[in-house]
Order: sequence, then C-alpha cells, then structure tokens
Amino acid sequence: MKLIRIVAPPLAANCYLLIDEKKAIIDVGGDAEFILKAIKKYFEPKKLDYVFLTHSHYDHASAAGFFKGTSRIAIHEEELGLMRMQSFSPILGLRFKFFDPDIVLKGGERFCLGETTLEVIHTPGHSPGSVCFYEPNRKWLFSGDTVFAHGNFGRYDLPGGDAMKLLKSIEMLSKLDVENLYPGHEDLVEGNARESILESLKIAKMFI
Ligand SMILES: [Zn+2]
Repeated sequence: MKLIRIVAPPLAANCYLLIDEKKAIIDVGGDAEFILKAIKKYFEPKKLDYVFLTHSHYDHASAAGFFKGTSRIAIHEEELGLMRMQSFSPILGLRFKFFDPDIVLKGGERFCLGETTLEVIHTPGHSPGSVCFYEPNRKWLFSGDTVFAHGNFGRYDLPGGDAMKLLKSIEMLSKLDVENLYPGHEDLVEGNARESILESLKIAKMFI
C-alpha cells in the first residue's frame, strides 16, 4: 500500500491518494486539471476506484464531479443539501460541477482496498455531513476539517456548522487509538497522534 499526499488548490487542501489493490483518493480539491495531472504521475485517473469526500466544501470537493462515471464517489447523506447549495454559486471563480454520489454514506461503513480498510466515522460540526476515515490496522485517521495538527480544529461558523457537535465529534475521535493523523489542511502528525487530538479537544473545550 502506498499513501501519497497531494496539496491541491485553491486553498491547499490535503488530498490523500491510497494505492492498494484498489485505488482511492480522500478529497480532490477544487481544480480538476491539477488533481488529474497529479494522479497521472502514478496511474491513469480512470483507474481510480473511489473518491471519498470528507465533506462538501469547495476546497475539498468541487473537482469530484470530474470523476463521475469512472470512479465511485462517496459522501455523507447530510452533506447533499450543502453540496446542492454550492453548485449554484461559483465561489472564487470555481464552478462546483454537480454530481450524484454513487455511495451515500451514513457512517459505520467499511471499505476494503486490499491491505487497507477505511472505516467511516460521522463527525458533524464543521459541516453537517463531515466524516473521518479510520484505518484500524495502521491506526491512521483521515480527519478532513474536523481536527488538525498542533491542537487546531475545524471552523464551526460556516453554513451548517455546529460548535457543540464539533466538540462531541472531537471527543469521540479522542477515544480512538490514532498513531498518524492526516488532516484536510497543513501539517500531518506521524506518531502518537492521539496526544494531538487530545490537545485539540482541550483547546476546543476552552473556546466552545
Ligand atoms: Zn471545510
């Protein structure tokens, strides 16, 4: 299994390419040309099996529609309304190419990519249908915009955001055994990442 981080425009979202028996990407950013070219360094983008979206914000998801028909696109059911809302308004000159997801997540699903398994955890707060993907064997957590490195955590003041739900979600994540944290922006935490999530929880409790 190979994990590759791709930092994608427009707002430097971390996208994670997982190359196993099956090929998947977690988040795609907002620039289809950029992400397709980045994937092409490793394999033909048409061979990508899954596009998993942590949430629908345009900086993570607006290029996803370009994978429709070749990859299976997965997003949480509570994100669909927000996604439709964004599809009507070009933000920062980007157009959210609307797509019907192939897999509507509820949380609790497991996707086996080969050596790698991804478990879906519904973590609302940053947005209603935000999810994290947990790899239980390696203890990796792909946390989207719910929790970041250095004690940071996601915004809760955007449409559909909810401070109390975010706090509960971080609390839930802090109970997981996490070795590496792969967030939706900025630095990764490799090694003892649970400590980092506990730090985020501590700070979130002071501010929320
Ligand atoms: Zn976001």
